[in-house]
Amino acid sequence: MKGFAMLGIGKVGWVEKDRPVCGPLDAIVRPLAVSPCTSDIHTVWEGAIGERHNMILGHEAVGEVVEVGNLVKDFKAGDRVLIAAITPDWSTLEAQAGYSMHSGGMLSGWKFSNFKDGVFGEFFHVNDADGNLAHLPEGLDLESAVMLADMVPTGLHGVELADVQFGDTVCVIGIGPVGLMSVAGASIRGASEIFAVGSRPNCVELAKEFGATAIINYKNGDIVEQVMKLTNGKGVDRVIIAGGDGETTFAQAIKMLKPGGRIGNVNYLGSGDNVLIPRAEWGCGMGHKTIAGGLMPGGRLKMEKLASLVLSKRIQPSKLITHKFHGFEHIEEALLLMKDKPKDLIKPIVIIE
Ligand code: NAD
Ligand code: ZN
Repeated sequence: MKGFAMLGIGKVGWVEKDRPVCGPLDAIVRPLAVSPCTSDIHTVWEGAIGERHNMILGHEAVGEVVEVGNLVKDFKAGDRVLIAAITPDWSTLEAQAGYSMHSGGMLSGWKFSNFKDGVFGEFFHVNDADGNLAHLPEGLDLESAVMLADMVPTGLHGVELADVQFGDTVCVIGIGPVGLMSVAGASIRGASEIFAVGSRPNCVELAKEFGATAIINYKNGDIVEQVMKLTNGKGVDRVIIAGGDGETTFAQAIKMLKPGGRIGNVNYLGSGDNVLIPRAEWGCGMGHKTIAGGLMPGGRLKMEKLASLVLSKRIQPSKLITHKFHGFEHIEEALLLMKDKPKDLIKPIVIIE
């Protein structure tokens, strides 16, 4: 089979590989639609997870099952399925402790285009099929279905990590597709004010549509000062980080947070050795300003619940898609588009079926 792969750090290309083998609990799936992700860019061009050779990229897909192992109960060949980017081993102790994403070791629930070939192949392997596949519900479009693989669960996980409560003031730093879903999530969680930090016009428009009550543009001055002005010097209850770096952004988040506040970080820190926490604004270590950073959890139950959130129109993730390609061979173009990030891009998708 063909796949679009990371050949080495900074290098990508098409490869020919054997079709993956299906174990007794697994499924082999063919993609119906895929989307490249900023994480693929961190992986290839920043070398964020280290060197990989001829590893098929991609972790965002919706697909059709072509084969299942003899112990799989609820899925069969021909089923159309949602698959989260994170596919934990559900029988592990970490998963039983509530941290499915770290099943088998820190971040080890992230398998596609990390420990094994990803979804930019003609076929891909899904471990623990009964736990990691979800039936594609009737009436759910492929565009939304692909966004359910990563953008929706990650954006909403930022909201979960920040633990947004009714009436909270929330600041979302970074309004790419993940941050935009965090804005939508904070809104349905009952935030009273949502400040979205960003500048690209189409992201700003969508942030407003998804529930942002104010837009903070760094071009108009220091973002902490702007947040302080909007909150009469009090700061915000919650910060969700979905863009930026491990230094400036963390320092800004701590500074704009009220004592007792919480930061939910879903941003992938692809470079640098340390995260910067400003000592005084962190209450000299005593400010009760919590930082929670996490990989999204994955799993069938989560996918089913999030799919119903789309079907009931509480979130509209297909609005993130700005560029649409048709045909497997366009994966390369879509990925390079994600790398070059033209101003009008939020999220590209490749329809294959
Ligand atoms: P993206 O690159 O499209 O969006 C990030 C946005 O942040 C961009 O609009 C960028 O302009 C903005 N930004 C950059 N620096 C900023 C700064 N200093 N202040 C404010 N905004 C700034 O990426 P995305 O697809 O939206 O993903 C966001 C992050 O989440 C990425 O790092 C991605 O790798 C990561 N991610 C994490 C998980 C997870 O499970 N935790 C899953 C998927 C993606
Ligand atoms: Zn992704």
